[in-house]
Amino acid sequence: CGIVGYIGHRDAWSIIVKGLHRLEYRGYDSAGIALLDGSLKTYKKAGKVSELEEFAAGKDKTGTIGMGHTRWATHGEPSDRNSHPHQSGDGRLSIIHNGIIENYATLKEALQAKGHVFNSDTDTEILVHLIEEVQKADNLDLAEAVRVALTKVIGAYAIVVMSQDEPDLLIAARKGSPMVIGVGQNEYFIASDASPIVEYTKNVIYLKDNQIAAVSRDEIIVKSIDNIIQTPSIQELTLKL
Ligand code: GLU
Repeated sequence: CGIVGYIGHRDAWSIIVKGLHRLEYRGYDSAGIALLDGSLKTYKKAGKVSELEEFAAGKDKTGTIGMGHTRWATHGEPSDRNSHPHQSGDGRLSIIHNGIIENYATLKEALQAKGHVFNSDTDTEILVHLIEEVQKADNLDLAEAVRVALTKVIGAYAIVVMSQDEPDLLIAARKGSPMVIGVGQNEYFIASDASPIVEYTKNVIYLKDNQIAAVSRDEIIVKSIDNIIQTPSIQELTLKL
């Protein structure tokens, strides 16, 4: 339902929590945040963003890279375990997802046959296991693994993916579900609409369908799902505060 991502030099937790509050108007049943500070830290709960904040109070929330999600359940009841972010089997990858993976049942069977064990009832978790599988099979970097995995997916999505193996990177991709990337000074803001971004920057890239963005602190590289480099155009937000 709602997506917020941050990579830069500020405290990611505060920016993401604030962003998730700005997306609350869309409605949701659960919320979660993952931070990448060398390793992954994940906090997620059924209920309100404020309940997630209470749950994480006093816990380690350091990090300048992270992503947060408000979920509107489509596959699997609203619960802590079905909340996003979801991890790969080896715990090295993390994903948040808006939308629906239509061929998740077929993908799930194929992955289970390869030994993957799932911890939720969501369509989303299948996607992060698929990325893990593709990455291991062909020894790909994260951006390429996400791209190849998405060629096998039918459905609508906006996703953000992080990996412990590439700790200075966020991968964002979309098809049929909106995604905006705010461009700052050595920092980027990712969101499902501009409302979490407006207070930080007016310069935005609207990711297009079938595009994948590899976002590090000082650079964004956009490719199509067919592996063709794209030149993103930076536009000025006209939205009023
Ligand atoms: N299909 C996913 C789920 O049920 C994502 C739903 C959403 O867009 O929040 O977990």
